[in-house]
Amino acid sequence: MKPPTRKILIIDDSPEDRAEMRRLLLAGSETRYRFTEAERGADGLRLCRDSGDGLPDVVLLDFQLPDMNAADLLAELCKGGDLPPFPVVVITGTDKRSGPELLRAGAQDFLGKSWTTAESLTRAVENAIDRFALLTERKQVEEQLRASEARFRQIANTMPQIAWAARPDGYCDYYNERWYEFTGFSRSEEGQSSWEPILHPDDVQRCLDTYSDCIRSGTPYSIEYRFKDRASGGYRWFLGQALPVRDERGEITRWFGTCTDIDDQKRAEERLEAIVAERTEKLQETISELETYSYSISHDLRTPLRGIRNYAQILEEECRDEIGTPGREYIRRIVTSAERMDRLIQDVLVYSRVARTEITLENVDLEALLNGILEGYPQFQSPDAEVIVARPLPWVRGNVSALTQCLSNLVGNAVKFVPPGVVPQVKISASIGDKRVRISIQDNGIGIDPQMHGKIFGIFNRLSPGYEGTGIGLAVVRRAAERMGGEIFVESEPGKGSTFHLELNGVA
Ligand code: ADP
Repeated sequence: MKPPTRKILIIDDSPEDRAEMRRLLLAGSETRYRFTEAERGADGLRLCRDSGDGLPDVVLLDFQLPDMNAADLLAELCKGGDLPPFPVVVITGTDKRSGPELLRAGAQDFLGKSWTTAESLTRAVENAIDRFALLTERKQVEEQLRASEARFRQIANTMPQIAWAARPDGYCDYYNERWYEFTGFSRSEEGQSSWEPILHPDDVQRCLDTYSDCIRSGTPYSIEYRFKDRASGGYRWFLGQALPVRDERGEITRWFGTCTDIDDQKRAEERLEAIVAERTEKLQETISELETYSYSISHDLRTPLRGIRNYAQILEEECRDEIGTPGREYIRRIVTSAERMDRLIQDVLVYSRVARTEITLENVDLEALLNGILEGYPQFQSPDAEVIVARPLPWVRGNVSALTQCLSNLVGNAVKFVPPGVVPQVKISASIGDKRVRISIQDNGIGIDPQMHGKIFGIFNRLSPGYEGTGIGLAVVRRAAERMGGEIFVESEPGKGSTFHLELNGVA
């Protein structure tokens, strides 16, 4: 490759010295030079500004000129900065003491006239060019860094949140303006002592623990706490979040964080929670009043109902000849309706009782309880039904009367909801999970449409009109299960039978 042509400006009042420099530079060097020359500082400066073919690659500057010295000329070139627009090598005569001063003034090198050789002058010129290029590059990088830092500060200061930055060890060394406005702290306040004193005393330990855990493990954090508000003297809720910034090796180089004022939101939440709690309490009171009310109404209804049924039966017995066949049929219907109504009232009473009465939990022998239920009802026994129990069954945490209610209703439904002419086949089993026992009652009945699975546990919801019932049984099961800390759900499809699962706590 062809070596570059260097444009050299020589500013020196001695024509002999200028000629000597030209000679030395041209002697034996591969590099091609084009020279411009000036005798006085002012002429040199003018040539620097408008030499016609761009800036020189290097200026060789005589230390003492007739109108100014090298330091003054450098100051003119640097215009207050620390670098001239091109490299300058000062030729200092015999005195080398002013060298460091010249470097500080912006020169890239200095050489004594008396010891200038072709080699040292060429090397000084080339070194000055290289050094100047490096310095210019560094200056540009520094400027870019300053600009990016300024941009960052500008963004950080325009955001509505408090922003901060910390060293990898968690020491906070930067806050945006919001912080100083909020706290009134001085800018010299850094580190943990800059934020810990304004934390609410109840939040200090939690915050310190979270902060040090995250700094240690390098995980981002998000935590709510209260800061003292200088303006009001009270505390305000903040959401503090922080993220680590990592280098290409994955090492944390910095932490950046924000503190967002969520006080209004938090207070609104608290107000809402208080309102919800108050309303729930009122609702609970109303429900329990209604339950008491419906219990006493249901209870009182049974007495006149018993009267209707008794008098209808007396009428039937004592006046059977006068009222004839149609009359007897009407009386039979009255009695049937009264009995149905009585069953309904009894079921409502059971439901209210399950909802109202205190339930104490105890360890219950499931197997013994189930045996008692199965033996107590003929419809659960052969030949009316085939009920298989996968023994042994575990003990559960429950209430004997509530559990009896659940199991008799579930087994009762399992043997009831079968297609006509089909012998009910019921399998009762239990499985023990993590702290819970699941009791499953599987039947070969008509099954239930999956869309109705949620509905059947509601009170008075009946799906199968062809079957006797009040629509209260499963509502009782759900209530009783809930009161025992358990739950009930079903798996079923029409025509494929049903499996009801009752889940309760096991015995520890
Ligand atoms: P009832 O048995 O008095 O009708 P439940 O509350 O016990 O009321 O049941 C509600 C409805 O759920 C029933 O009407 C029936 O349609 C359906 N159901 C309950 N158990 C079964 C079952 N084992 N198989 C099919 N359907 C059932």
